[in-house]
Amino acid sequence: ITMLFNPLRQIADKFNVMQMGIIAAERVFDVLETDEQMNDCGTKIAPQFNGEIELNNIRFSYIPEVEVLKGITLHIPPGNTVAIVGSSGAGKSTIINLLNRFYDIDSGQIRIDNTDINEFTLASLRRQIAVVLQDVFLFSDTIFNNITLHNPAISREQVENAAKQIGIHDFIMSLPGGYDYNVKERGVMLSSGQRQLIAFLRAYVSNPSILILDEATSSIDTHSEELLQKATEYLTQDRTSIIIAHRLATIVNADQIIVMDKGLIVEKGTHHELLQIENGYYRNLYESQFKMAVEE
Ligand code: ADP
Ligand code: MG
Repeated sequence: ITMLFNPLRQIADKFNVMQMGIIAAERVFDVLETDEQMNDCGTKIAPQFNGEIELNNIRFSYIPEVEVLKGITLHIPPGNTVAIVGSSGAGKSTIINLLNRFYDIDSGQIRIDNTDINEFTLASLRRQIAVVLQDVFLFSDTIFNNITLHNPAISREQVENAAKQIGIHDFIMSLPGGYDYNVKERGVMLSSGQRQLIAFLRAYVSNPSILILDEATSSIDTHSEELLQKATEYLTQDRTSIIIAHRLATIVNADQIIVMDKGLIVEKGTHHELLQIENGYYRNLYESQFKMAVEE
C-alpha cells in the first residue's frame, strides 16, 4: 500500500485535490483511510505531551524533485534541549515547519510521545508547541495584550510574575507605561532583541510542552543579549526545546547539537564531543565564528 500510496500522496500534496474532480479526490482519500500511518486528517486530540520527539528518516521537498531534507533521523528525549546549527539553506527552519505540520513530509515519520503527529488534530498539536521566530511579530497593541495573545484569561499578576521569573520585568517597566506601552505595528519602536524578549514571555506564559526558537542573527545590544540568554535558560528548563542556535552560550549549553548541511545531519553530539572531530564541520564553525570572540 505504501508504494501505491506515495504517488497519490504527492498528487494530493502538490496540486489542489479539489481541482482534480470529486472522483479522483475520493480515491485519494480512500487510500488515506486505509493507511493508518498516513492518516492525513488527524482526529485525535493530543494529550499533554511529555515532549519526546522522534524524526525517522524524514524526506521533504517544497517543490517536486528539489529535496530539501534528505533523510533526517533524530531522537530528542523529553526535556532535552537540541541546538541546530548549519549554513543558510541547510534545512533548519524546514524542520520547524514540519514539526508544526505546516507541510506534510514526503516519507518517514515524525512522532511525539510515540504517536505519529499526523494522528493529532492540527489545533491540539500546535497548541502545545510555542514557536519564537527570528522576526517577531508584535501587534499594534499593548505589551500586555501581546504577551497574553494565546491565553487572554491570564491575569496581570501572573504575567508580571512570569516576567520576573525570566528576568525581563525590569525591562518592560522601563518602557513608558510599562505593560501598557503600545508597541507600534510590526514592533518598529522596539529593537529586535526587545521584540524577542516580549515573544519569549508570550511563549513562557503559554507553558508549551515543546519550545521552538529561531535565534535572531541580527545584531542585538549587549543588554538585551544578556537578558535573552538568561530567558532562554529559563524557557528551556524541563521542557523539550529545539533551538536554531546562533549564540555560543545556547549551543554550549545544549544537551545535543545537530549540525546540518544540504538537507542532512552531518554531525551530532555535545559541544565537547564535536570539538574532538578533527577537521569537523562544527569544529571549523566554532573556530571561524566563535573561538576568536571568546579568546579576545
Ligand atoms: P535554513 O533554515 O537552514 O536556512 P530552510 O529550511 O529555510 O534553511 O531552507 C532549506 C531550503 O528550502 C532552501 O534551499 C530554501 O530555499 C528552500 N525553501 C525554504 N522554504 C521554501 C518554500 N516555502 N518554498 C520553496 N523552497 C523553500
Ligand atoms: Mg532558517
